[in-house]
Formats: sequence, C-alpha cells, structure tokens
Amino acid sequence: MEKRKIVIAANWKMNTNLDEAVELASEMLFELSEIDSVETILCPPFISLQKLKELFTDTRIKLGAQNVFYEEKGAFTGEISALMLHDLCQYVIIGHSERRQYFCETDEIVQKKLASAVNLGIKPIFCVGENLEQYQSEQTEEVIITQLTRGLSGLKLPDILIAYEPIWAIGTGQAASAVEANEVASLIRRTFGELFGLDAAGVLPVLYGGSVNADNIAEYVSKTDIDGALVGGASLKSSQFVSIIKRVA
Ligand code: PEP
Repeated sequence: MEKRKIVIAANWKMNTNLDEAVELASEMLFELSEIDSVETILCPPFISLQKLKELFTDTRIKLGAQNVFYEEKGAFTGEISALMLHDLCQYVIIGHSERRQYFCETDEIVQKKLASAVNLGIKPIFCVGENLEQYQSEQTEEVIITQLTRGLSGLKLPDILIAYEPIWAIGTGQAASAVEANEVASLIRRTFGELFGLDAAGVLPVLYGGSVNADNIAEYVSKTDIDGALVGGASLKSSQFVSIIKRVA
C-alpha cells in the first residue's frame, strides 16, 4: 500500500484581518518553504484568500476555505459558492462542528456542500465528531457512522479528506488520546471502505483535530490510521504552527 502523505491544515476561524493574515502567512512561508514532506494547508477567512493565493504562487503551501454554500450562484445573500472558490483554493472545510452548532448545519446540508465542492474539484476536509455527552454515553461510533454515511451519500468516489474532531477536544486543551483518536480514525477508514471500496479507503487521508500542539502531534501521526491534523488555536501563532509541521516533517 502506498504511504499516505502527512497533512497539516490550519483553521484560522474568524481571526485575522487582511494585513494580519498576510503577515502570519508570510512568517509561515518563510519557515516552511523548503518542507516538502508535509502537505501544508492554510484556511484563512474568505477575505484573505486572493492575497494569500498570490503570496503562495509557486510555493508548496496550499489554501483552503472554511465554508462554502452548495448552490453555484443566485439570490443567496452573503454566501460564497464552490464556483467562486475553485480558482482561489484547493481545499474547503465542510461540516465543522462550529458550523453545525452555530449555523444549524445538518448532515443533509453538509452532504450538499460536499457534493458541490467535489463537483468543482475542491477537496473537502470533511469534519465529523461527537459531543461530550455522546462521548460519555459511548455513542461515538454511532454518531461517526451516521455523520459519514449521511454526509457522503450520493457521492461517487470523492477526492476528500476526513477530519475526526471530537467536539469536547476542540479549543479545550483536552485532546483525545492518540489511541482513542486512532480507533475512530480506523472506524472512519472502514466505513469509507464499505462505501467506496478498500482501495479508496487505503489512500484516504484521515486527520485528527482537537487541541493539537507541537508536543502531541508526533504521537497522533505515529498511529496507523491518522495522517495528520486539523489545527485551530495553535495555527494562529506562526512559531507554534511551524513547530507542529517540523515535528512531523
Ligand atoms: C478546530 O476548530 O478545528 C480545532 C481543531 O481547534 P483547536 O485546535 O483549537 O482545538
């Protein structure tokens, strides 16, 4: 089986104005320009994608959006479509728990967004994960399988990454143990295999997200089914994000 490349993606969330984004991205580019062994993806707010695209031309750093709407164009005030994004970035985060929680995104909406991104050749970073109550009542497996099968329904062999992000671990400093995260990553790979075949499952990048930092990243990627991380808080400081990447490069 071909070795999967390590992927480290930064989710800046609703942080950085244009100048701050350019400054942060420039600092990261300076430190990371020689690193080829890790697929590095920055997901800034929409307003900075164009500038960062110019900054990263002919570099190894890739760009992602943090959200997308599923219609291509029309009377959807305030929304941004995959058609608008596809020449700006290679990736898009879809199904993040903050969008599910604060913007009422259901599995059905997530599915439409995934389909729209895939159709336009943008790779989704599809987030799944259980909340604290579900974790404590041992419903993780059921929640993950439901989110995966509903989100991926109707898609044909999608070029996609899946991020396991337990909600209780996001921004809390309470990271899931590498063993636990790997169990869920294996479940994700198995479920993907049942939907799309073993070959597709074998090359699927599965990331872990939730309080990742430079001290814990190596343990996650040492596990059989974890291929990298989606990083929130620690991606907003250039030194911390660069250290995460250098630990696994
Ligand atoms: C995230 O929001 O995707 C995330 C993983 O955040 P943090 O790294 O801050 O836990």
